[in-house]
Amino acid sequence: MTAKSVWLKTPLTIFYPDLCDVVRLFWGDVSISPDEGETVITQECAEGGAHFFDLWSCGEETYAYHKEITTQSPLEFKRLRKRAAKMGLYGLMKQMTGVTPPWGALTGIRPTRLLYEGMEHGLPRDLAMRRLTAEYDVSPERAALLRDISLMQEGLREMPENAFDLYIGIPFCTTRCAYCSFSSGELGKGKLVKPYVDALLHEIAVCGEMMRRAGRKVRAAYIGGGTPTSIPCADLERILAAAQEQFPGAVEWTVEAGRPDTIDPEKLSMLRRRGVGRISVNPQTFCDETLRRVGRAHTGEDTVRAYRQAREAGFEDINMDLIAGLPGEDLDIFRKTLEKVVELNPDSVTVHSLAIKRSSRLHEQLHVNEGGHTRVNEKQAGEMIDLARQTLTRGGWQPYYLYRQKYMAGNLENVGYAKPGKACLYNIGNMEETASVLALGAGAITKWIYDRELRIERAPNVKNIEEYIARVDEMCQRKRALILEDPEA
Ligand code: SF4
Repeated sequence: MTAKSVWLKTPLTIFYPDLCDVVRLFWGDVSISPDEGETVITQECAEGGAHFFDLWSCGEETYAYHKEITTQSPLEFKRLRKRAAKMGLYGLMKQMTGVTPPWGALTGIRPTRLLYEGMEHGLPRDLAMRRLTAEYDVSPERAALLRDISLMQEGLREMPENAFDLYIGIPFCTTRCAYCSFSSGELGKGKLVKPYVDALLHEIAVCGEMMRRAGRKVRAAYIGGGTPTSIPCADLERILAAAQEQFPGAVEWTVEAGRPDTIDPEKLSMLRRRGVGRISVNPQTFCDETLRRVGRAHTGEDTVRAYRQAREAGFEDINMDLIAGLPGEDLDIFRKTLEKVVELNPDSVTVHSLAIKRSSRLHEQLHVNEGGHTRVNEKQAGEMIDLARQTLTRGGWQPYYLYRQKYMAGNLENVGYAKPGKACLYNIGNMEETASVLALGAGAITKWIYDRELRIERAPNVKNIEEYIARVDEMCQRKRALILEDPEA
């Protein structure tokens, strides 16, 4: 059963967006409203003492859910009541559709967080893993994946005291990929590069002083985008030099060299000279026809060339990003990409499931022009993800971090795999939310952790490049207010 539009009626309006996410687990990008819709889903609530009862119904189907909540903490109560409402709706949707999503009822939460939550309450790792299957209907394979990730993260999740990670965003790309939802601008004639770099250097200098005042030291640093290597070598070097002067002592420097057509020996040798140890050279796929279709201006052969040049330049930590479920790709094409990756033998591989976000060109092509729900062949995307896991683990890579996004093919996940000793600290700290991240540049979001991971506050920078350039002082002020106890002093 599927639906064109949903009228979702609930007295718990405070949880409305979360309940919509549960419906979308089953019906994708369907339109959902509190006032109208062809398919009507209703929640009725009752409570007695600490017992909460929800009756969910849709046409002839009904599903009852009961939960006892005993906590005294209002925050915890809200969290548990929300979970109960979502579980009831999940039960109804599963009953109606006959579908069991791979991550069960999990939406809007990092899956590893629930595993660690169980372990922090004293459950052995295997029991914490099985709890995810019993309580949240997570498939045994996905629960085992989380266990493997937690094993890889041992000793790497914890941050040294008073440390933070650094992110610097360079929002330019040579062309725009059809699935891109970032705010990156096409480089064009590059007229915005210089003013952008000047604004960024200003933000780096102000934030360097801020971190010294706060007594904080950088642990891992990451330059992402966009494609940082799409700007001229000298500009990228100015950024690296300034960042390393203001934030000395990082144990890890990563630069996204994403597009193979932006990599050349000059940039590679500059990155080595500047102490960058880890780069990403991203094929996404080795199929040239797909690359053309999604608007990437390079071939599979370009990726091989860039990868070999990076090895020749001395890089011993190279990541490759792949996407499962790209338009027009079947399992055979994806298998060939995986075989090529295994042959090249990068140090880490990140396997993404295609997410068709609303701001992407692909969403427009599939949703607006073809009028359908923007979902790729979910079964096939799932097979690709499974094949990647088997192939990579057999080849010596182990999963070490994972995240999920909305609108992902088949409700799947993105997983980073690494050879022993090659897990990226920045990725773990950022995805597990164990690291405070100072984020600079257009669209970058600073996340500051308080009370030992219990509270996270954010200070976003504006996304638009021109606005960022004009308002960089305001971006610095936002961070000052977040990070310094006495920002005016
Ligand atoms: S390389 Fe990344 S940031 Fe650039 S257009 Fe493609 S998806 Fe977007």
